[in-house]
This record gives sequence, C-alpha cells and structure tokens, in this order.
Amino acid sequence: MGNGTDLQYQLAAKKHQIDGELEIDDLAVVSNGDDDGAYVQAWIWVEDKELGEFCQHCGAGMGIHRREGEGTCLKCDPEGAKRG
Ligand SMILES: [Zn+2]
Repeated sequence: MGNGTDLQYQLAAKKHQIDGELEIDDLAVVSNGDDDGAYVQAWIWVEDKELGEFCQHCGAGMGIHRREGEGTCLKCDPEGAKRG
C-alpha cells in the first residue's frame, strides 16, 4: 500500500499528462493498491474516427463482420446481411 497522501499522488500523476491526450483532474480519485504506489484517475481522449472498430450495440470488434458506415455488427443486425 502506498505511503503518500492523495495530494502527493495527484501531483505526481500530473507529470504523466499529455495535453489533449491524457489529463488528470486536480481532485482525481486516488486508489491505493497492494504495492508501493497508487492508481490515479485520468482522462484519455478518444477520437470519433476510432469508434468504427467496435459495434455500437454489443461492443464487439467489427473485424470481418464490419458493416460499412452503419456501426453495427452482423450479429446485432442479421437483417443487415440480407440487405448486403
Ligand atoms: Zn454487435
């Protein structure tokens, strides 16, 4: 378990920040683990263009079942297979 205060972990975590990609709030949640240290809550930026890899209903990777431009896999929308 870490020996620091939440404030110490929050400030140390800010050294890992990357503007616009990985950011840490001033009052980020701190979770002590079993080892020497702690997890600090962070924000990770995700661009819309990354979303097409996953079905919007079940979250499955689209892979070969991807349906162009509709965001659903064939399992969630089997009728889509007939529509082509
Ligand atoms: Zn799906």
